[in-house]
Amino acid sequence: IREWINDYCKQNGLLTLSVLAVISGCLIGYMLRSLNLSSQAKIYFSFPGELLMRMLKMLILPLITSSLMSGLASMDTKASGRMGLLTITYYLWTTFIAVIVGIVLVLIIHPGNGSEKEGHTGSSGPVMTSADALLDLIRNMIPSNLIEATFQQYKTELVPLVKSSTKESQANYVYIMPDYDNPKMGHPVFLEITPAPEVKYKVIPGSSKQMNVLGIVIFSATMGLLLGKLGERGLPLVNLCQCINECVMKIINAAMWYFPFGIIFLVAGKILDMHDPVHLAEKLGMYFITVLLGLFVHGVILLPLFFFIITKKNPFSYIRGLLQALVIALATSSSSATLPITMKCLLENCHVDRQIARFVLPVGATINMDGTALYEAVAAIFIAQVNDYELDFGQLVTISITATAASIGAAGIPQAGLVTMVIVLTSVGLPPDDITLIVAIDWILDRFRTMINVLGDALAAGIMAHLCRKDFPKKSERRDTVISYG
Ligand code: ASP
Repeated sequence: IREWINDYCKQNGLLTLSVLAVISGCLIGYMLRSLNLSSQAKIYFSFPGELLMRMLKMLILPLITSSLMSGLASMDTKASGRMGLLTITYYLWTTFIAVIVGIVLVLIIHPGNGSEKEGHTGSSGPVMTSADALLDLIRNMIPSNLIEATFQQYKTELVPLVKSSTKESQANYVYIMPDYDNPKMGHPVFLEITPAPEVKYKVIPGSSKQMNVLGIVIFSATMGLLLGKLGERGLPLVNLCQCINECVMKIINAAMWYFPFGIIFLVAGKILDMHDPVHLAEKLGMYFITVLLGLFVHGVILLPLFFFIITKKNPFSYIRGLLQALVIALATSSSSATLPITMKCLLENCHVDRQIARFVLPVGATINMDGTALYEAVAAIFIAQVNDYELDFGQLVTISITATAASIGAAGIPQAGLVTMVIVLTSVGLPPDDITLIVAIDWILDRFRTMINVLGDALAAGIMAHLCRKDFPKKSERRDTVISYG
């Protein structure tokens, strides 16, 4: 028995602790709600959780740059080109399938039955268009300043033109801005106001205080490819990246022991901070179930099925190796923050080739969000149903395309999908303010869709490892290959 306990602790100890941490976090959070803690007390209470988020975020930049640069540098151009093409095609395909699953389910279940609305629907002001979002995506791909890209990304914003000392300065409008930097880990801040007709708005390209992961991925991948071409001259930088990468993995290993403790406070802090106990009105409840069902069908049936068909391996034993990453995704609502743990699970538990994981994962964490795409399509159609707005086939096609695009544009951070959903709504003429209908439960759904986003990336890495096995025949340590080439 002692041996069995030892083995169990070695293999599943951390995972079990993390799951227990999520459960105890929920319980502690609910129990403490009755104490009506002051907001300052809540900030103190959430501090260990804040530290967990800070640790994870700290690792994103060195992990992405060192993984992509060293990984791509040691591949030959033909192999990396093939893998890149396969990966992007697979990502787009699975995201589109996720959207279709969402659309089919929401049309069958019809959660937004009836016409009276629950909650506020705005008329109203101008909104960011799909074109603005597309331009922002392209702007973010080409950061004008790399240092700035490590802490800021481009985001077009609507600003009211407020003339000083006129009554317009009290004008109200709905403005959604996820406050990612606050200690409560980025819930959207809603300033809910009604626009006064005279207020003029202007769309300005602004910047959001978020790391521009897309820009960094593109720059590092380009550098990696070019470093490979430099041969021996590029070796010092490649080796430096290898060292950074190994150190990051060591930091992750050490930090993992803190995670269960941090998770308790992260989850409890979130529950403590919830406004009212969520009142799930009937329609909202059905919407919630529809999204969850869609995520389940996509993540537990379709993605594993694709994995099985392509690799002929048991997808569930592969997923077992990813459980730690999935728990972290559930606790943090951020696929970027989960990236270091996903990488660790893939390398150590699923034994995916290092070079492949180093490319497929960072790219996936940036552009592949199946859960987000599915949720955006369901939410948009739900809002149309609540408004008694008949969508024709063309509009459904538009939703499927814009939901795919909006998920690619969404950052891997908490509730990013809620913000990019404005693009989907405006593309079919739905009032963007109506996202207030679904916001009450968005933070919970966010956790589940983040899990599916992470799962999608990790399964893709397994599939690519299988498809590209001829290009990367040895599973052995690539470090030696890199150091000795040239
Ligand atoms: N939180 C999600 C992620 O990090 C993005 C979203 O759907 O809001 O993957």
